Amino acid sequence: MISLWLQYQLGIYHTRAWLWLPAALAGGVAGVLALLLGFGRGVLGPHRWRAIGWGLCAATPLLLSGALVGYMLYEQDCRNLPNTQAHRIGRMAAITLLDGYAQWCYPHRLETDRLVMRYDESVKRPDADAAAMDAHLAHLEEVLGRRQHSHIIWVRGPSLGMATMSIHSIALGSDASPASELDRHELAHAFLYQFSRPDAAPPMLLLEGWAMAVDGHPEPLAGAALACRKRLAGSGGQPSACLAWILRPDSYHVGEEYAYAVGGALVDYLIRGYGPDKFLAFYNSIHPDCYEAACEGVFACRFETLEQEFWRDVEANSARGK
Ligand SMILES: [Zn+2]
Repeated sequence: MISLWLQYQLGIYHTRAWLWLPAALAGGVAGVLALLLGFGRGVLGPHRWRAIGWGLCAATPLLLSGALVGYMLYEQDCRNLPNTQAHRIGRMAAITLLDGYAQWCYPHRLETDRLVMRYDESVKRPDADAAAMDAHLAHLEEVLGRRQHSHIIWVRGPSLGMATMSIHSIALGSDASPASELDRHELAHAFLYQFSRPDAAPPMLLLEGWAMAVDGHPEPLAGAALACRKRLAGSGGQPSACLAWILRPDSYHVGEEYAYAVGGALVDYLIRGYGPDKFLAFYNSIHPDCYEAACEGVFACRFETLEQEFWRDVEANSARGK
């Protein structure tokens, strides 16, 4: 766990398996053996209670790993992406496990300049799909004004029971040709993570907003954002403070519908209006308890002003049918 935490702090994009997996496996096997020996001595004696105590101590890493897996699955079920140390460690471990399982399950591998695709026979046009998504990533480089520094692992289908998601360097996309907006969406997450700082705590509003802004889905961004604001007003919220409502602490890291629908238009507005450098600076400096200060520091305007300008831009785009 210390190795995984250090790899996260050092900004390692694709977890180095050899730096943690052998130690974890050795610890797990030793823990099981110590538990069995401890309870064996607990039954047969001598020093029964002492033997059981040492057996439980030796199994602690195993119990902690089990607790971490349970925690990760619980948060995944809640569509929550908390910025806790435990979740960071779990995400780094998940990269190794998802990629390892994909290597085992998917017999084919295709590499381009920007991605490594793992796939099976259900992908009928692997070359065309890989070329299309490589071109998508090249377009994202233009949008963000930055070159990708590492390959993204793109899995064509589920891995370890997980599907349609992205964790740092690995994207679980569609399982058949042609590659779709789902693939563009998940690859966009993996792309942006290459430019996220380890101490960054971006909200779902920006995290999902980025992917929605660039995944090429057919629905207009402005129309989706306005529809969402209308629903919020209908449920008693303040339309003029819609962004602040989405950024409140208990929804900041949660993948709610609002984060997707409003976030897409917001990220589109920030990149068009302020440029990719300021968008990225905001993405890396915003935190749940200081999003207003981050806004003033990066965009030199109050958050309320930014929100008003954003909605004016959305209304103008909607009138133009965008
Ligand atoms: Zn997403």
